[in-house]
Amino acid sequence: MSRPEAGRGRDRRTGSLWRDLGQKRLDRVKHRASSSAIEGAILEDGRNRFVSVTFDDGLLRGARTAVELLEKYRSKGTFYLVTGWVRPNRVKIRDQWNQGRDHGSWAEWREIEARGHDIGSHTVSHINVRTNIKARLARSVLIRELADSYDDLRNHLQKPPVSIAMPYDAMTFASKRLVKRVYQAARVGRRRVAVNDLHRIDWYRLQSWALDPTMPMEKICQRIAGIPPNHWLILQFHSLGDEGWMPISPITFDGILKFISECDNLRQVTVREMVEEFKNTESENQSAISLR
Ligand SMILES: [Zn+2]
Repeated sequence: MSRPEAGRGRDRRTGSLWRDLGQKRLDRVKHRASSSAIEGAILEDGRNRFVSVTFDDGLLRGARTAVELLEKYRSKGTFYLVTGWVRPNRVKIRDQWNQGRDHGSWAEWREIEARGHDIGSHTVSHINVRTNIKARLARSVLIRELADSYDDLRNHLQKPPVSIAMPYDAMTFASKRLVKRVYQAARVGRRRVAVNDLHRIDWYRLQSWALDPTMPMEKICQRIAGIPPNHWLILQFHSLGDEGWMPISPITFDGILKFISECDNLRQVTVREMVEEFKNTESENQSAISLR
């Protein structure tokens, strides 16, 4: 862990303030280190604009179609699984967009992972950390959602996850503190286009664009074309066709991928690749066990 105070359970107000100040100093050091990493990587490759395609909720049918289309353009996606929904379901599905849908088995997700796609966490039960009263009151509920989903993915897949996508794009101060101890990055999102500036990136509040799938493809592509140098756009989808929340049509999705593949100076990357390339993780030793 990079933060000296982590794990000591000090909750007094003054303790928190000192911890915050120490964290800010560490963040500045990290910022300088990762800035030089960014310059190096950009100079080597030449392409300095980045785009990622992410899918939330772990809907298998859409994931399979997405994988086929992504591979048509030699690109990779990041899929965020609600680990309690993976067959055999351990958790009752309350979300209407996910009820009665297939969230795949671990063997099926291992297949997708083996094809080079990135798989991350979307918690154990799709909890909203902002509105769920239990999560707000009991730290153990948050720990279970964040750390158990990490353990599920680590135990069932080849690689442990590096990032989490927060359900409902909700992040609280308490959940962010715990997320930092388990994951190397966390994604939130919004309905309006938002890009991440690589020189001042908050790895635990990565912005994504949950785009309206009824938006004309040309408009979506215009936004992608407008990614400034040294910026990273994360697209947030759920599924394709008629599955899940705000699904995008496979034709539009195909068109977006084709456009990305033809854009000059634009790299399509997974969230894992971005973390590995740009985040200074030398001093970090994240572990789900450290939470307990
Ligand atoms: Zn979700």
